[in-house]
Amino acid sequence: MPSNTLDTDIQFLPGVGPKRAALFKSELNIHTAGELLRFYPHRYVDRSRIVPIAGISPDMAYVQVRAEVVEIEFFGKTGVMELEGTAFNAVKRMRVIVKDDSGLLEIVFFKGIKWMAGKLKKGQEYVFFGKPSLFKGHLNMVHPEVDPAGAQASGRTESMTGIYPSTEKLKNSGITNKTMTKLMSAALDMCLPDIEDCIPKRLLMEKGLVPIHFALRNIHFPKDASALEKSQYRLKFEELFLLQLSLLKQKYIRSRNEHGIVMPKVGDAFNICYGSLPFDLTGAQKRVIREIREDMKSGRQMNRLLQGDVGSGKTMVAVLTALIAVGNGFQACIMAPTEVLAQQHFRNISKYLQGTGVTPALLTGSSKAAERRVVHQGLEDGSIGIIVGTHALIEDNVVFRNLGLSIIDEQHRFGVEQRAKLWRKTSCGVPPHVLVMTATPIPRTLAMTLYGDLDVSVIDELPPGRKPVQTMAATEGKRLALYRFMKDQIALGRQIFVVYPLIFESEKMDYKNLEMGYEQIVKAFPFPDYRIAIVHGQQTNEDKKFNMDAFSSGKADILVATSVIEVGVDVPNASVMVIESAERFGLSQLHQLRGRVGRGSEKSYCILMTGHKLSKESKHRIALMCATENGFELAEEDMKMRGPGDLEGTQQSGLPIELGIASLAKDGLILNDARQCAQTVLAADPELSSAENSGLAKEIRKNKYSVRDYSKIS
Ligand code: ADP
Ligand code: MG
Repeated sequence: MPSNTLDTDIQFLPGVGPKRAALFKSELNIHTAGELLRFYPHRYVDRSRIVPIAGISPDMAYVQVRAEVVEIEFFGKTGVMELEGTAFNAVKRMRVIVKDDSGLLEIVFFKGIKWMAGKLKKGQEYVFFGKPSLFKGHLNMVHPEVDPAGAQASGRTESMTGIYPSTEKLKNSGITNKTMTKLMSAALDMCLPDIEDCIPKRLLMEKGLVPIHFALRNIHFPKDASALEKSQYRLKFEELFLLQLSLLKQKYIRSRNEHGIVMPKVGDAFNICYGSLPFDLTGAQKRVIREIREDMKSGRQMNRLLQGDVGSGKTMVAVLTALIAVGNGFQACIMAPTEVLAQQHFRNISKYLQGTGVTPALLTGSSKAAERRVVHQGLEDGSIGIIVGTHALIEDNVVFRNLGLSIIDEQHRFGVEQRAKLWRKTSCGVPPHVLVMTATPIPRTLAMTLYGDLDVSVIDELPPGRKPVQTMAATEGKRLALYRFMKDQIALGRQIFVVYPLIFESEKMDYKNLEMGYEQIVKAFPFPDYRIAIVHGQQTNEDKKFNMDAFSSGKADILVATSVIEVGVDVPNASVMVIESAERFGLSQLHQLRGRVGRGSEKSYCILMTGHKLSKESKHRIALMCATENGFELAEEDMKMRGPGDLEGTQQSGLPIELGIASLAKDGLILNDARQCAQTVLAADPELSSAENSGLAKEIRKNKYSVRDYSKIS
């Protein structure tokens, strides 16, 4: 036996044993009694409430009925069968009809029939607790829990019963919700004396949090609704607090130990560039540049995430930031995820730099050997101040004389190792400042967690004068009208994107695929009156480039594409974005696609083509797209609908931890509070070495909270 009951192997809990323990481990990742206690119900039902049968509807969650058994039937392979002796093996299904004052209900068992048949008696009253379902148009209840009427379900008097998440395998091996409650009760009785509160008393008082014993008891067996609420709050706070402590602890320690290059001035190039801008910076751009300035002169390494919607002017900020580095005698690199984007950046940046005396260079995978040699030389001797490029920049043979700043665009396309490599490109022993830019709006709570100790700046304002993109949804019946509209736009000299979700037709789902779509478009827009380009992931780079160039130079009127055009591609003359099977795309992706238009001076349109039968969720997504252009709003909604783990742009990095009770989508306020609280605690005790904080220090050493440090990987 372990010295701490929390470490007791789950198999030693009453009624578990090695076989079920194996299931707990494989299905729920629960190995010990302590882990079991941290497995919380995902909802609660009021067991004091009895619902009349006539009041049940199939959309209800768990309900409880009190009813008398009026009929019991057994079905074999061929239909109703008589039970003779021990013929239970042949029984496939048991049907029980029960009644209360209001009506009749069918109850069905496919498993555990022998046991149930021994338990249920005609004419007796029972309490059935289960989930109503609809089978071939009539209401029934499959595998409810059954208790004789009048007996208390589990010997406890709580009225709220927790419902635990479960899996098919668990259910099939007889681990019911009732089993879970019994286990929890046993685990609580055994472990509570060994559980110490990790949150210091002072903090409990200050935050009005209930103690851990109370919280654990009431999360599993709520005394009443208010006790449950307090317990949930406490456990959510604890989880988010520990998470933030663990994230921020690294930051506090690092900022104490690690130096950054001091860049005290802005420099001439910055001032010249700033002074000759054809527009005023937006308030948000100015604020972000101030934040960056503070970082760069602070003596600490900058680790900043810059978020801003497509078109919010991040490139401008990147250029000015790079010029600060140059003005202080350092080199800056700007890295983009694709060749197309790198080239586009290079063109734009060159424009901004005119007159500053700083000339940028470009390095990508397709740079010729001779150009490459020149660039390598210039980076090594320091004559190149600003370099723009792709992954080619992090190859081992690229040597910088004094890299002071790395700007990474569209960060989620870069792997962790790649970012780390850039880190090591430093020659002076002090790491370069790092600015990560992303146009994928990430909800604040997610950014705080995903990017842990990166500071976050947000450009939440678009440059003035930008015309909104009019967004509309349409179904197949409107296709001819759509084509007419497209022709009108082309006649006005505009260009059009048509985007498809899939390349190959999927048999199961009847989605338009790109090739079919292309043929359809070519037919409706015949050559030579119309010119169509096509871009997709299966093409060679040459084909891709040829088609892209045709479109961006205005030679093609329509670009038919898969979502490869999502990133980058600046074609200001394109004023219409048609998205086919739009219900197939997530909100963030739709938003990114829409951001491809509305960049020029013309009024722009986004048309979402959808099927007729949409799920409730798809309808909601499409409606949101039509209602707002705010990327952050859409990202928040996306997270609410799909959960943070499914958000685009986060799959690659993954969530750093799995939360057990808190939700990044719903508990933003608690997260804020927990983060502030973590900051206060760490400011006073960065190593968490005081006696008061020893419980916290112990907790965050646990696996769950040992978050990977996303900003500094080596
Ligand atoms: P992002 O990189 O955030 O998508 P860009 O930096 O490419 O955005 O800017 C989009 C367009 O807006 C560019 O043509 C840029 O010149 C212009 N722009 C940037 N900042 C401003 C501003 N403050 N006022 C007007 N136009 C701006
Ligand atoms: Mg950009």
